[in-house]
Amino acid sequence: MQYIMALDQGTTSSRCILFDRRGRVCSTAQKPLRQSFPRPGWVEHDPMEIWAAQMGVAQEALLKTGAGPESVAAIGITNQRETTIVWDRETGRPVCPAIVWQCRRTAPLCQQLLKEGWGEKVRKRCGLVLDAYFSATKLHWILENVPGAREKARRGELLFGTVDTWLIWNLTGGAAHVTDYSNASRTMLFDIHTLKWDAELLERLDIPASMLPQAVPSSQIYGYTKPSIFGRPIPVAGAAGDQQAALFGQGCFRPGMAKNTYGTGCFLLMNTGAQPKESRQGLVTTLAWGLDGGVEYALEGSVFVAGAAIQWLRDELGLIDTAAQSEELAAQVEDTNGCYVVPAFTGLGAPWWNPKARGTVVGLTRGVNRAHLVRATLESLAYQTCDVLGAMERDAGLALSQLRVDGGASANGFLMQFQADLMDAPVLRPACIESTAYGAAGLAGLAVGFWPDREAFAANNPVERVFRPAMGPARREAMLRGWRRAVERARDWAEDSEGNP
Ligand code: ADP
Repeated sequence: MQYIMALDQGTTSSRCILFDRRGRVCSTAQKPLRQSFPRPGWVEHDPMEIWAAQMGVAQEALLKTGAGPESVAAIGITNQRETTIVWDRETGRPVCPAIVWQCRRTAPLCQQLLKEGWGEKVRKRCGLVLDAYFSATKLHWILENVPGAREKARRGELLFGTVDTWLIWNLTGGAAHVTDYSNASRTMLFDIHTLKWDAELLERLDIPASMLPQAVPSSQIYGYTKPSIFGRPIPVAGAAGDQQAALFGQGCFRPGMAKNTYGTGCFLLMNTGAQPKESRQGLVTTLAWGLDGGVEYALEGSVFVAGAAIQWLRDELGLIDTAAQSEELAAQVEDTNGCYVVPAFTGLGAPWWNPKARGTVVGLTRGVNRAHLVRATLESLAYQTCDVLGAMERDAGLALSQLRVDGGASANGFLMQFQADLMDAPVLRPACIESTAYGAAGLAGLAVGFWPDREAFAANNPVERVFRPAMGPARREAMLRGWRRAVERARDWAEDSEGNP
């Protein structure tokens, strides 16, 4: 048994990675996923395409190593969260396309629920901000709008699942209908304190409990692959939503440890240990994972526009040819020459929560050149990250000792150094930036004894580079003060929240 197979079902692609005992990536395969936008604001995926693509990449990754399925000790799953699938228990056929987390079709229902006073209950029980993003209202929509679905569901003929559940059910030939705690906590139907589905929410949304998966720990054998898939049964032994899997893959096992994924946006998670910490600043409280007989919690926040601002420099302004070139340019100047870029293209999130904010450049003088603007845009990723981390520290009552990083823009050395300087804490970049898949592999590997414990697993993903803070307090304070003044200028620019000028 040489490998753990991680199946990573993202929003835009299906991936398989085989990890060996030393945490090395031994084989990968990837296939893009078709995105469907049937109406403005709607986003769908084909669940059968997801399943077929996962089987395809699993076979391809195995073939590339020349090893057979007997070399795989277990399968771990990580997935885009909240995306909602309903299928027929008998035939296994989905009753409609998957409604993707980004889909806004249930925003009116969320408005209605807020009017009815559900906002506070959802925050208290589910740890979430009541929003169309999460699965609950998507599932309600399917039952309301797919002909015959409500009756079939009442008769116990339909099953609901997020993407983890869908994959595990198919892998095990319908034997396991489960979801791990981290995924359950994103449905807006799950009480993160009692670890049970919330009966009152189910009743309000008219969702029969019989269609819900059993919520289970993130690391345990859920079942075995049906023999027709790989020729032999392989244990399916771990699952976690993508952001929680990344937190695990980064080895953030103790309260106060946090990771930031610098992609199109930033996703920040801080482990808060065995206690859920309620946010007073619009962050969400989520289950990190269930493991070793207990559960751990995390606070989660995001930055809407991060790497996307670098794409903007490249595609709209033409200031750079490649994202990586931003580093070279930023290094050509000593500072931004007094200029700040606030990339609030779609408003500002935590801790500002100002939907009417818009992108703003302040402090322009005749001497501000291309390199200064590029540098100011890169710096904005770090300022925004600091804003969210500050909110987390206040909500959790924990001081951040270090930040672990991954995602496309974490390759940028200038940005990582600036991040460390602004936070006045070290930034740790691991050797393996496949944290998400590695986290899923870890959860599965621990369940079958492939790794003896978390520490042995994490030791395989050593830190490749530490960026230590090197900025004096006076300069740091002055820069942060400037950022806060720039954010003030960006606030409330749009006259209505739809962004009309
Ligand atoms: P996602 O998973 O959200 O698609 P990735 O983790 O693949 O994102 O990261 C891609 C993002 O990171 C893009 O928005 C890109 O502009 C940005 N990016 C990639 N490389 C760099 C770099 N060297 N410096 C700054 N930004 C970068």
